[in-house]
Amino acid sequence: MDKLKLEKLSIKPVSSAVVSEDINSTVMQTLRCACKRYLYAPIRQCRSGHCLCSHCSDPPSRRMCPECGSPVIQARNLALEAIAAKLLIACVYRTAGCLEVMPQGYGMLVHEHQCLYRPYDCFAAKCAWTGQAHTLLAHMEKSHRERVFVGFEKVFKVKKIENREEMDMMFLFSCLNNLFWVKLIYRKTDTTFFGAVQYVGNINTAGKYSYSFEVKSEDEKSKKLFRFDRKTHEDIVSFDVIFGSHDCFCFPISIAKYFAESDAISINLTIQSVAQH
Ligand SMILES: [Zn+2]
Ligand SMILES: [Zn+2]
Ligand SMILES: [Zn+2]
Ligand SMILES: [Zn+2]
Repeated sequence: MDKLKLEKLSIKPVSSAVVSEDINSTVMQTLRCACKRYLYAPIRQCRSGHCLCSHCSDPPSRRMCPECGSPVIQARNLALEAIAAKLLIACVYRTAGCLEVMPQGYGMLVHEHQCLYRPYDCFAAKCAWTGQAHTLLAHMEKSHRERVFVGFEKVFKVKKIENREEMDMMFLFSCLNNLFWVKLIYRKTDTTFFGAVQYVGNINTAGKYSYSFEVKSEDEKSKKLFRFDRKTHEDIVSFDVIFGSHDCFCFPISIAKYFAESDAISINLTIQSVAQH
């Protein structure tokens, strides 16, 4: 066929980039389990041939296909696993238990930064422990028992207000079926008390809890009250950043002096669930 005839048949040359993009997105659509998650090794099948992710197929001996209800078989789909490995990446914490996979790109970096399986460091200065959020309480109870507080309410008695030295307190609160880091400090450079509460775990859950620091004057007649309320902070934001932002309990010593009784103040902390409306 010469050029003229081709034009008459209106066959247009196709750009190869467009084709590979189309193939990619078609394959990506196919690489989904019935539960909408991406398929990634190990990929198993049901007796009718539906391919299933490991969330839906593990352990195969006890699982039924979410799509058709037939039993899941042991055999893996190795060809599909090989394709998936070229198009998708798994979270770096996969060996720790995270099953998240997604197309290569920025999304995984965001996920890994807040992954529930990421390692946590112990805050104790000389402790080299790192572990996952769900092992944190056990470590704290074993090695730093005095830093664990069970309950959602605590009174911090702070003495020597007149000539306050630096202060740094950190506790792991175990309450409301969750864990919270509580930090209360006094910084001489800022002449201010700072306090904040972080939710340990899923950053999307931090907004479901709130904390309040409250200081009342002992003297009933004057009835002075200083109070700060806020939703708990995500644990991917460090306390230094939180205190630096002043989006937390900030109580200057110049005000604290008016609340002092015998050179001491009581700071009341309460953690609670945010009421669902
Ligand atoms: Zn699935
Ligand atoms: Zn099926
Ligand atoms: Zn992860
Ligand atoms: Zn430790």
